[in-house]
Amino acid sequence: MADPRPAGSCVRPNTTSISNAINAAGIDIREYSSIAIVVPNSLGGCTGGVATGGSIKDPTGAYKYVGLAFTWSMNNHYIRHEILHTMGLGHAKSISCTNGMSLGANCTIAAYGNQWDTMGDARGMMISAPLRETMGWTTPIVHKGGSETYTIHAATQSGGNATAVKVPLTITGRTDLSVTSQLNLYIEYRPPIGFDSGMNDSRWPNWANGAMINVTGTWRSLNLSTNKYMSCSQSSPCLVDTTPTTTGTRSHYDAGLPVGSKWTEPLSGVSINVLSRTETTLVISVESPP
Ligand SMILES: [Zn+2]
Repeated sequence: MADPRPAGSCVRPNTTSISNAINAAGIDIREYSSIAIVVPNSLGGCTGGVATGGSIKDPTGAYKYVGLAFTWSMNNHYIRHEILHTMGLGHAKSISCTNGMSLGANCTIAAYGNQWDTMGDARGMMISAPLRETMGWTTPIVHKGGSETYTIHAATQSGGNATAVKVPLTITGRTDLSVTSQLNLYIEYRPPIGFDSGMNDSRWPNWANGAMINVTGTWRSLNLSTNKYMSCSQSSPCLVDTTPTTTGTRSHYDAGLPVGSKWTEPLSGVSINVLSRTETTLVISVESPP
């Protein structure tokens, strides 16, 4: 491209340069919705990347707006992450709440907190269930109440079966918080297969041996001195810690729910039991309060 190599800062080529380079290479932008661009690392050093968009000229001279995924590294993790941003995904977050609760009125959200998701921090692994649903990669089984048993297939080897159970939460009678958009749990199984091979790690044994649970939805505190707003959307979900009494930067290493254990979501009273697993399937039961 015509732009000079960036010197000392995380400079990106402008869309005119990109347009010219794409047309010089004989590429018809009308056939694409996103472009990934690796920029040579600047002298100052620049990691990660950024997702944006730009109007690129097509062979007829008209312009098409496409996603632009820039990275300053050939690291596949960064490239995948930025491309998925251009397709509408946000970050895979994690949530930690006070008083030893998994969810509550006073929670802190870490923007890249799900370290087992390409849209979270550092590790290149499968995206979690709410994001896969956003992408159209899976259709979760929806829990409609009562007590039901479900089989969830491995996120990276589903054979076309559902890789998540979605549980809409009914929350009533709370004076400490107000739900501003529907809360849902997404329960999934992330054994160390293929793209998720990094799950096979003694630092986080529960992922390979049980369920991962994310929450989506928004809610706000009512009684705190600062009116706190908790936002976990389907395109930017929050990883729930089912063992919230362990805290610190690694508190989510044990966030998974292993076979043989039961966890009760504290706001709705819904219980999740992890009953058994094979290499590629996990059996859970979900029980809504009467
Ligand atoms: Zn990002």
